Amino acid sequence: MGILIDTHAHLDATEFDSDREEVLARAQAAGVRVVVSCGQDESSSRATLALAARFAGLAPAVGVHPHCAKDAGDLAWLPELLRDARVIAAGEMGLDYHYDFAPRETQREVFAAQLRLAAAHGLPAIVHCREALDDALAIAAALGSQAPRAVFHCFTGSIAEGERILAAGDTYLGIGGAVTFAKADTLREAVRRLPLERLVLETDCPFMTPAPHRGKRNEPAYVARVCQAVAEVRGVSPDEIAAVTTANALALFPKLNAFSKA
Ligand SMILES: [Zn+2]
Repeated sequence: MGILIDTHAHLDATEFDSDREEVLARAQAAGVRVVVSCGQDESSSRATLALAARFAGLAPAVGVHPHCAKDAGDLAWLPELLRDARVIAAGEMGLDYHYDFAPRETQREVFAAQLRLAAAHGLPAIVHCREALDDALAIAAALGSQAPRAVFHCFTGSIAEGERILAAGDTYLGIGGAVTFAKADTLREAVRRLPLERLVLETDCPFMTPAPHRGKRNEPAYVARVCQAVAEVRGVSPDEIAAVTTANALALFPKLNAFSKA
């Protein structure tokens, strides 16, 4: 199926403690050249950087997930990590009004601060946005031409929502296991109709396991299943989806070019 990139994973998760090496070997065997692994707070961002030193195919992103925004403090630790030559993106960051684990005002402040830091360091942003699209787009719009390139990961919305995100700037949509779910007809219609050159593939592992593996731990090798599902939805070959989405991921995250040649 050609070279794939998993643009969103959490390889620092304890779910991978017992077999992380095998997980990455299976990913390579499935054609996944690089896995973008996202930190969720200071300690998980530092853990992700430590993993990147051990595994050549792991590209680190560092940031504060909206679930962790309450404990983000002044983010004084983040610029140092963003300056690390290996870091390919800032994130994951964003807004989650579904779980509301942190007060919304705090989520907005921490998201806006990280978007500004991403831009200041010339890095793209990895955005988690759940039931908060109006506010997320308003925060990005407030930065005007300063807004960094961004991916809205785990996109599960409609065509109209996808179009709003893509109209907001230099933005991409991360498509994951949800596209295989039985009830995801609205998402599949969006994946069919939205511009292929703005879609990237992801697993969000260990979460969001695609069919037919649901109920099991997700892992980067399953991004091949996502690729296959997108190919079925769009009526083209998995090879074409792999080629275009890999090119998209390299355009979204230019520093991945160093990894993809490794
Ligand atoms: Zn995530």
